[in-house]
Amino acid sequence: MPGTILFDLFHTLLDGADAERDRVVARMGEIVGVEPTALVLAYHVTWRDRLVRWSAEETVRLLARRLGGDPSPEQVARAAALRLELASWLLNSAPASTLVALDGLRAAGWRLGLVSNATAEVAEAWPSSGLSRRFDVAVFSCVAGVAKPEPGIYQAAAAALGVAPQRCVFVGDGADGELAGAAAVGAAVVRTAEFVDRSSVWAGPVVGSLAELSGLLGEMPVGRGVLQRGASAA
Ligand SMILES: [Mg+2]
Repeated sequence: MPGTILFDLFHTLLDGADAERDRVVARMGEIVGVEPTALVLAYHVTWRDRLVRWSAEETVRLLARRLGGDPSPEQVARAAALRLELASWLLNSAPASTLVALDGLRAAGWRLGLVSNATAEVAEAWPSSGLSRRFDVAVFSCVAGVAKPEPGIYQAAAAALGVAPQRCVFVGDGADGELAGAAAVGAAVVRTAEFVDRSSVWAGPVVGSLAELSGLLGEMPVGRGVLQRGASAA
């Protein structure tokens, strides 16, 4: 019987677009008057803070000041707007095959939740994306104040769906230790290699694309914990 699936977002439902992110941050550096490559590096090294603490505007203001800049509120707002634009673009870049797979799962009776390590502008752009209406619940680290692989973010999504984490399947590419984190709260785990193949972090069940998920789930005794024994390969 269908149950509940929790999905990761980036590199699971759509491409992570890492190069495009760097390009946008470099352009933001020009806007706020700091060395673009230095700002890109500053974004990379502060990812944990950006996931759970800072808004888009706080981030660019704080990092620009750390790099010796003194951007005006108008410069900060213009730079932050580029991040929101990027987030909107990313969220609307899911392949048609992803949308078809999600629609098929919903039609089969599965309830779908999103559990994403994401910065503030992604949560802001989410409601107007085509993906959002395919999900019953979305939990973003920047809103929840907790990021994968911490138990709280999975538990928040499961609670919002009215189920125990042990009754959920978690599907993700495996970044940030998210598969081990999901297994730790008792979820069954499926790794996806559609956008990036992190076979080194998880030795359990894997799909090559979301189109394969329905077939795999049909073979899984979901909720009885069998797949959660998929061991970490790390
Ligand atoms: Mg991911």
